[in-house]
Amino acid sequence: MDDIVPISPQAPERSLPSLAEGPACPAPAPITGEVQLGHGSGGKLSATLLRERFLPHFANPALERLADAAVLPAPVGELAISTDTFVVHPLEFPGGDIGMLAVHGTLNDVAMMGAVPVALTAGFVLEEGLSLALLDRIVTSMGLAARAAGVPLVAGDTKVVERGKADGMFICTTGIGAVDPAFRPGPERARPGDVVLVSGPIGRHGMAIMAVREGLAFEAAIESDTACLVPLVAALRQAAGCGVHVLRDPTRGGVASAVNEIAAASRVGIELDQPALPIPGPVEAACEMLGLDPLYVANEGILLAVVAVERADAALSALRSHPLGAGAARIGTVVDVHHRMVVMRTAIGGMRVVDLLPGDQLPRIC
Ligand code: MG
Repeated sequence: MDDIVPISPQAPERSLPSLAEGPACPAPAPITGEVQLGHGSGGKLSATLLRERFLPHFANPALERLADAAVLPAPVGELAISTDTFVVHPLEFPGGDIGMLAVHGTLNDVAMMGAVPVALTAGFVLEEGLSLALLDRIVTSMGLAARAAGVPLVAGDTKVVERGKADGMFICTTGIGAVDPAFRPGPERARPGDVVLVSGPIGRHGMAIMAVREGLAFEAAIESDTACLVPLVAALRQAAGCGVHVLRDPTRGGVASAVNEIAAASRVGIELDQPALPIPGPVEAACEMLGLDPLYVANEGILLAVVAVERADAALSALRSHPLGAGAARIGTVVDVHHRMVVMRTAIGGMRVVDLLPGDQLPRIC
């Protein structure tokens, strides 16, 4: 450490401010209804923010200890861990907000490994000037989402950055789940002959966000599909067990990207059936208007399941009998040709390649 300069004994003594000059540290500014830099200071304002605006929504014994780390009983066997950062704009959108999205998104990723989520953590980056009323709405919604899923948020962190250095707020969530060795779906487990199912209509989350951003109005408003898929996975497991080879939530990049990832990981081909794709009318209309392909639009409350053919009917009816899967459909087949490639049989009988997009079709969507 050659940048440390020893203090010379001859250095003049620095004079301390006299009491008459007033206190050396400025007192915190009064509360104004907005997030202030002091809320991230680690001092009194931070403690108040935590106690009054976060803890009431996430109450659980592990969190309330307010120790440096939450201590949890260890599940037997293996753990699934997933982490995700949410930067969606706007923070509130038809059908949801960044808080519930952060809970659902992370729980869903854990559930896609067949694991049962047992705990969540969250880190918040707040921008100076963010309305405290908006923060309250988002934290309330996040607490409700975690409670509805029955998964405690056991550790968290808040930081505040200056105006202009973040767009309102960003949230990073991590989820831990217990893996049951008897139920191990994975992206590399698709086999030729398997059936591809989708649990509901596609493209709703992405187009709900884009409709708000672009100021589009439709006769039927498009709402985000954001939802916790844990119960749907449980229903699927009960109906098809080990016949469920792959589970994937087609979020950013949509169904097209998710099936491409499955084809690549499993070294198989996948054939989609265009007329079978459940695309809601308003989503199709909005996509046409904006020049987007619904197959690439983000979803936050549906899953893709690649299921052994002999369990496919049972899996589909289990999905359809659950409220979250009422719109489930059989959309494709795994094939032993054009490995690592996805093709789609179009309505007029042609075939086209469904490739990965080179970049982001829709930025800041989740
Ligand atoms: Mg995922």
